[in-house]
Amino acid sequence: MSRFPYIRKRISLFLLALAVTFLCTAGAELEIHFLDVGQGDSTLLICEGEAMLIDGGLSSASRFVFSYLKEHVDELIYVVATHPDTDHIGGLSAAFNAVPVEILYTPVLEYDSKAFRSLMTYAGGQGTLVDVPFEGDTFMLGSAMVTVLHCWPEAWSSNDMSIVLRVDHGANSFIFTGDAERMSEYMMVDSGLPLAADVLKVGHHGSRYSSTQEFIDAVNPRYAVISCGQNNGYGHPHEDTLNKLTNAVILRTDMHGTIIMRSDGTDIKIVAPVLDPSAVTGFIGNRSSMKFHYPICEAVKDIELRNTIAFDTEAEALAAGYEPCGLCHP
Ligand SMILES: [Zn+2]
Ligand SMILES: [Zn+2]
Repeated sequence: MSRFPYIRKRISLFLLALAVTFLCTAGAELEIHFLDVGQGDSTLLICEGEAMLIDGGLSSASRFVFSYLKEHVDELIYVVATHPDTDHIGGLSAAFNAVPVEILYTPVLEYDSKAFRSLMTYAGGQGTLVDVPFEGDTFMLGSAMVTVLHCWPEAWSSNDMSIVLRVDHGANSFIFTGDAERMSEYMMVDSGLPLAADVLKVGHHGSRYSSTQEFIDAVNPRYAVISCGQNNGYGHPHEDTLNKLTNAVILRTDMHGTIIMRSDGTDIKIVAPVLDPSAVTGFIGNRSSMKFHYPICEAVKDIELRNTIAFDTEAEALAAGYEPCGLCHP
């Protein structure tokens, strides 16, 4: 039997739910913290007092994850263990130690590793509901709508088991990929589920085994976030991946530390990293007005990201036909 009617039904349900979220988002904020857990992944989302943690980094990140959660939330409605690899679930036991957890989503209920058994023990101890989600499932985090884009328990590689989530908050959208690799990306492109998004948490720490051109084209993000450790032994992020993300502003936990974004349903603001103006060099051009500015100029924050161009020197900007801004006089 063809899957098509089922997919069509899922997509219309998605659109209906999206319309409802859109109406409910006014004034509400969604905050997303891409935690700097070294080589690993951990993202905290908070919307109207409700919190979700996607992954928890290596067990060596436990102390950091514990104190970060203590500082920011009283409980977690959802913990998502994208897949059973230790760089994603090693630090999740610390999350259970820090705060109560209502629901744990995982692609599998059994996995032969110490970290996974420990996670299940903690979940059992708290009476947390443990569930394997289905592709197309949706649930709410405050006024943000979360859609499961992928979950593949039968995958032969743990990375491809990854639960991939889409979060819609008003007009802003985010995709969190876990370590989903090529085959999963092809399946998502094929699924017909909506992939275009403002922010992409780049798959598998920027590895070349993820981020197929087809998937990147379908998402076409304005911001690409890469979570990886400084000088990690895997060479993450790989050059090939960075080259496919030239349309996006790339933010990296190995370079920027913990990255915080805030969505009001219309705009996305980067709250951290806060760039130290005295440390910022070079000039920023606006492709549409053909003016160039000091990076600290007030006008810079209003430039559409797609229209932003960087120059190392004033001479370079002038040679490219750009005029100095009348406000900051570079
Ligand atoms: Zn990983
Ligand atoms: Zn992995």
